[in-house]
Amino acid sequence: MQTVYLNGEYLPLDAARVSVLDRGFTFGDGVYEVLLVYKRKIFRLEEHLRRLDNSLAAIYMDNPLTRDAWCQVMHRLIEDNPADNQSLYLQVTRGISARDHAIHLAHKPTVFAMSNPVPQRNFTSGIAAITCEDIRWKLCNIKAITLLPSILLRHKASQAGATEAILLKNGVVTEGAASNVFVVTGDRIKTPPKDSGLLPGITRDLIIELLQQEGIGYEESGITEKELKTADEIWITSSTWEIVPVIKLDNKPVGNGQPGKIWQQVMDVYSRFKNSI
Ligand code: PMP
Repeated sequence: MQTVYLNGEYLPLDAARVSVLDRGFTFGDGVYEVLLVYKRKIFRLEEHLRRLDNSLAAIYMDNPLTRDAWCQVMHRLIEDNPADNQSLYLQVTRGISARDHAIHLAHKPTVFAMSNPVPQRNFTSGIAAITCEDIRWKLCNIKAITLLPSILLRHKASQAGATEAILLKNGVVTEGAASNVFVVTGDRIKTPPKDSGLLPGITRDLIIELLQQEGIGYEESGITEKELKTADEIWITSSTWEIVPVIKLDNKPVGNGQPGKIWQQVMDVYSRFKNSI
């Protein structure tokens, strides 16, 4: 039985219990992180912990654990799991209170963590995506557990036979339902700038870092619906999916309908980086 961490204890998964009055359950009042573990090492640890701090600060919470305490929890969970590649899930909710919106009523956060083997998926031959209106709220920079809009958007994609929904707000791309977006037109690589309309993806930032290192040009600027729909390449990025080429958008081929050359080049750089750590 898998071991999980809950409020200071390591427990078998089916023994871990939270109150029905936990604000995570009643309000979705909490934040989370997903970190990848490659060859039993945590990938981009500092970046994820920094984003967790930012998400907590944005919802007026202090981080309940120190950096070292988080590391201890994560390393214990990794040790307990035989898989070399794992996906760590960390969640902090505001804890238990009467079902009242007032924040001050809760005084002890609920801290939960688990680690699962990375699901075996191979998206390197490309996926289909659809475009959807971005129906989410205005603070998408917070990694909030309140994911109903993303669930509905992914469901819409799945019903259309696609894997991801690429979101447009006022005619401009924000991100995917659970990923960031890059487009390539000719040799121009573009991704939306970071603002409150999208999650500051750790994979997105790493790709930018690698592009800089390799001297490959890119732009952080708005992508219009027309640019998206006429792009030669579209990629979506996330910690769990890495860099995935979108080969079909709204049932039409993207570029020549195959994973693009620039995607392949950047994917190679990314894989080299991953294998070097
Ligand atoms: N945007 C959203 C809305 C996400 O949920 C995610 C990850 N699940 C991402 C972007 C990608 O972020 P990261 O690269 O840090 O996984």
